[in-house]
Amino acid sequence: MNLSSRVRGVELSATIKIADHVAELERKGTKILNLSTGAPHLPTPVAIRDQTIKALMENKTGYSHSRGIYELRKLLCTDLNERFGTHLEPERHILITPGGKQAILYFMLSVIEPGDEVLIPEPAWVSFVEIVKLAGGVPIPISTSAANGFSLSALAIEQAITPKTKALILNNPSNPTGKLIDKTTLHAINKLCIASKIFLFSDEIYDQIVFRGYRHTSVLSVNPDLNYIAMMNGFSKTYAMTGWRLGYIVATPHLIDAMLKLQQNSITCPTTFVQWGVVNAFKQITHFPSDALQLYQENRDFLIKEFAGLKNFRLIEPEGAFYGFIDVSRINPDSAKFCFQLLNACGIAATPGIAFGKSAEGFIRISFATSREILVEFMNRLKQTFE
Ligand code: PLP
Repeated sequence: MNLSSRVRGVELSATIKIADHVAELERKGTKILNLSTGAPHLPTPVAIRDQTIKALMENKTGYSHSRGIYELRKLLCTDLNERFGTHLEPERHILITPGGKQAILYFMLSVIEPGDEVLIPEPAWVSFVEIVKLAGGVPIPISTSAANGFSLSALAIEQAITPKTKALILNNPSNPTGKLIDKTTLHAINKLCIASKIFLFSDEIYDQIVFRGYRHTSVLSVNPDLNYIAMMNGFSKTYAMTGWRLGYIVATPHLIDAMLKLQQNSITCPTTFVQWGVVNAFKQITHFPSDALQLYQENRDFLIKEFAGLKNFRLIEPEGAFYGFIDVSRINPDSAKFCFQLLNACGIAATPGIAFGKSAEGFIRISFATSREILVEFMNRLKQTFE
């Protein structure tokens, strides 16, 4: 059977591959400390679950509007307009999608011609590269280094631009490094993209998870006219809703209408009762993001303190998101091999840095959106085996 070159050119998601492998081991009875998946351990807020069940019982089970239900679009636009000074209209500037990932795919399919280049600063979340390839584009990595804290400069982007460059992907805060892009740099990058007629795609899915002393700057606040930008966000991380599949994208009406064609002709609409569940619970769950953040903050502080005392490992201080990005090169510079060592010797599942690009080799990623007991156990096993 001849599969399409489109699919043959794409890899399985490295993080999901590990998660599936761990699930298989667990099914066979092996107990694994699984720190490899980017999913909050907290349950979805009870109000969302209740309201979703209510929506189901009220038969809100048909197709919704293909842009997503108006009430959810309105709620999100009002919130974003208040926070960022935009003038988003629910009818024109937003598309609700079944997860943020789908929005990335829609965006790439809408702007990329075969052979177009898309700049992706590394280390980069695994799916960016594969989605660009799926859309026929050529991912162009922009290296950053641990030595300068994986920080990104407008100059590095400028130097990577060619006549074929079509888009730049930013992920702020970053999965896997937990780094934020500061306001001045974001302004400079935005200016550069407009001047070069390059789309700036900003994945802000971790925007509510920012630690004390740091600030997230949305691309919407530096470019409220949406000139050459698209901003993606979703409910998976902020509201512990990874399995519900609900995200959204904000852009000019021209771009939203293009993406709408893809939505209408693929999945029609996001799941209707899920959208109603969120809308009807929204007022009751305003405390949830900050309660969850408090837990992540405590876990982060715990890890920083623990790693400060180790000689063979170095933790990059997370500014946002819920990942520990750890330099393991003293033990093994091959991050994939180290992850196998970790799995076999300690029963710990982590993600090898190489999955996030060459700049991330020698590192592993763990998720600290988990219980304190698990993190204590992780540190104990790590110290016993490698220190
Ligand atoms: N973007 C980044 C940076 C992520 O880490 C993830 C999930 O791991 C996603 C997007 C996907 O989010 P969703 O669950 O909304 O598809």
